[in-house]
Amino acid sequence: MTIQKLPTILINQIAAGEVVDRPASIVKELVENSLDAGCTHIDVLLEHGGRDLIRVSDNGSGIAPDEIELAVTSHATSKIQEEADLSAIASLGFRGEALASIGSVSHLVLKSRQSNDASGMQIEVDGGLMSETKPVAASVGTTVEVRRLFFNTPARRKFLKSDGAETTRVRDVIQKLASSYHDVTFVLTSNDRVLLDYPKTTSKERILSIVGTELDGEMLEIEGKADGITLWGLVGTPSVARPTSKHIRVHVNGRSISDSSITHALKEAFRGLIEPKRWPTAALFVEMDPSLVDVNVHPQKSEVRFRNKDVVWRLVNKTVASVLSENDFVPAYQPSVHGLSNQDGGSFTGSQAAFGVTGTPSFERVHSIRNAPVIDFPMETPLPTILGSDAVLQVHKCFLVTQDEQGILIIDQHALHERVMFEELMQRLSKGNLESQRLLVPDAIVADSAQLEALETNGNLLEKLGIEASASGPASISVYALPTLLVSRNVNGATFIRELLDALGSNEFSSSEEEALSEIVDMMSCKAAIKAGDQLTPRELSDLLKKRREIERGGSCPHGRPTTMRLSLAELEQRFGRR
Ligand code: ADP
Ligand code: MG
Repeated sequence: MTIQKLPTILINQIAAGEVVDRPASIVKELVENSLDAGCTHIDVLLEHGGRDLIRVSDNGSGIAPDEIELAVTSHATSKIQEEADLSAIASLGFRGEALASIGSVSHLVLKSRQSNDASGMQIEVDGGLMSETKPVAASVGTTVEVRRLFFNTPARRKFLKSDGAETTRVRDVIQKLASSYHDVTFVLTSNDRVLLDYPKTTSKERILSIVGTELDGEMLEIEGKADGITLWGLVGTPSVARPTSKHIRVHVNGRSISDSSITHALKEAFRGLIEPKRWPTAALFVEMDPSLVDVNVHPQKSEVRFRNKDVVWRLVNKTVASVLSENDFVPAYQPSVHGLSNQDGGSFTGSQAAFGVTGTPSFERVHSIRNAPVIDFPMETPLPTILGSDAVLQVHKCFLVTQDEQGILIIDQHALHERVMFEELMQRLSKGNLESQRLLVPDAIVADSAQLEALETNGNLLEKLGIEASASGPASISVYALPTLLVSRNVNGATFIRELLDALGSNEFSSSEEEALSEIVDMMSCKAAIKAGDQLTPRELSDLLKKRREIERGGSCPHGRPTTMRLSLAELEQRFGRR
């Protein structure tokens, strides 16, 4: 073949391949244009997942009548003019190719009016062919309609998923943009149903409405500054850590991006507070002079390159770590000069508490034990009870102390209970499905595309676990029944299902069903088990020890942490000089 220059239509179609691969990426480009035009209201409408119609309307600045043709021409933009502008981009768009690319693979209608014009102007692009412009009646702002998407690129059309899946992706895109632009109203409608409606509000309220208002009490506000870079955001406490990193939202100068360095800085700040396999929940907003960050490094503009990556890393890490330490999640024993009698002097946080377990061993307890009168009993004080040989003592609401023939046993209550439940559940599973309990009112939970997909493909597994749930919309799931064990232990069903689907969706579990089941049961046991800080009744104590003797199989919980330690008589005798 000879070398030839490609025709413009083909060039635009090739560019479209990088920029617009599905309805969600088209919506992203169009909404970004609306935001760049300084609007306060954006309406997005879909028909059949965007296959038949995508319409984005805004009340922004509009386009001058004599520029409307340029708007749909490739490499034509109002956002940059010369080379220097490229190194300090303050707008979301800058390449001038979105409208041209979209118009090359669909039938696009662009209608726009500026506030000082009496009427609007319209242009159509059909598979890359531009119509004449013509005046139309229009309100101030811009509307773009995209129909017959990919009609001339059938291969691309084939890659589209179900309408529901495409709709969910659009929803994810709008949520990402809406996180940064809290003072803009966003409405998403699909087949006449309103899926999202975010009125103008404060930053914090906007984020909570996106991540889930149920997390309100669990999100800590962070704020920091370094070398002209500012950071603001909400970070979830260790107890709302998730099995995947996708609940980490990062925004730089209003742009939603993914950035492995920022994610790493955040995760490092949680070191020791969450299990290594889990990820924090967070929405972070980094603002800096546009010249300090290169946004022209990714076709869909979803990554950036920082001039000074280290400063950003440290800012995120230090800001998050200091907020976490203020909130006392840090698992450190700090000896104080005044010793244990100083109530403010030190914090005593067990490693159990480090892993999102509520409650820490109480300081007052330590205090009162230390000061218990040992020799000098006042007459009215009752004499301490002499305990029998199978007595058990709960220490600091965290450990159990008892004895066996060989010495003193020290048991971690959470680890043991987790182990007991794991064994019981595995045994039940070997005989059939887990016992399940119907909910009086189905639990409706918000779900994203990956979670819905995981629900669809794991029906078998979920049934075995006693979970009954089904999609109840393009972005929600109804839960009808949950494993009895979780219900009876007051585990939050919505959180559990979401985490389970996240983990299933990101292939966290083994591919063999057998192994996957045991991994899930492991996760369930951990959630349902009593925690450090739970006060146990004598009945619960003796039940737990009885079960320990039944399972008997040794001293470690499913995670591999020990459940029990023994201080042998031989050791004690030696230490006390008896031998
Ligand atoms: P870019 O956003 O990279 O400049 P686009 O192809 O997305 O390229 O848009 C081309 C131009 O059309 C923009 O630079 C802008 O001037 C104009 N434009 C597009 N959409 C809108 C809108 N919603 N409101 C106002 N102007 C718009
Ligand atoms: Mg654009």
